[in-house]
Amino acid sequence: MLMHENPKLTIAIDGPSGSGKSSVSKEVARHFGLAYLDTGAMYRAATYRVLELGIDLNDAEAIAKAVEEMPLVFGTNVKEEEILMGSTDIREEIRSERISSAVSAVASVPAVREHLIGLQRWMIDHAINGMVAEGRDITTVVAPDADARILLTASEEVRMARRGLENAEKSGASGDLSKQIAERDAKDSKVNNFMEAAEGVTLVDSSDLDFNATVSAVINAVNDQLKAKRAG
Ligand code: C5P
Repeated sequence: MLMHENPKLTIAIDGPSGSGKSSVSKEVARHFGLAYLDTGAMYRAATYRVLELGIDLNDAEAIAKAVEEMPLVFGTNVKEEEILMGSTDIREEIRSERISSAVSAVASVPAVREHLIGLQRWMIDHAINGMVAEGRDITTVVAPDADARILLTASEEVRMARRGLENAEKSGASGDLSKQIAERDAKDSKVNNFMEAAEGVTLVDSSDLDFNATVSAVINAVNDQLKAKRAG
């Protein structure tokens, strides 16, 4: 049974790389019957476009133009991810190392953020039942007035271990990604503070929780915020 009475519910979830944000957010979206917006995937798709066009990562103006004009098709159905650039399915490619190592540079261009934040707000506003939106700046910038706001963290050690495992599963080799992830988090932290919870945001630390326990903790935190809002 759904715990919310609002016809439309927006849940904002932020967190660093390896916090389990994406898989947890999807499960939370399924639980509440909502759409799901992976904003990291949007920045990754923008980066795909910039690299596809051979644009210099120092050329902020050219990057902004390419992103503003990119033919992106981006779905929000939690049951099926849909990410196309023109007619090319880029779901796998945007998770590659090539994209991961360039994405922070693209995401730090202010005009890129302005454009993608505009698209994200539009998608949140037009979600029929509501949406779980996840990223680095959803609780603070994109949807600070969301019905529930969560910051999902885990200790650095746990985050690195989870990412290492994910990579090993994908590539069949146990790659040590720790350095790259730490570097990406450090670059991203210059743009947004997603390591500390802003006022009104509930911190969920998943360091000692398995996947199901983390999903339950987030659902409980959402329900607590909804109850508090209704009461207040
Ligand atoms: O979440 P994910 O690791 O896929 O995000 C990829 C990158 O997109 C981040 O490293 C960050 O540079 C950027 N990002 C962002 N703001 C968001 C979501 C992601 O700048 N809301």
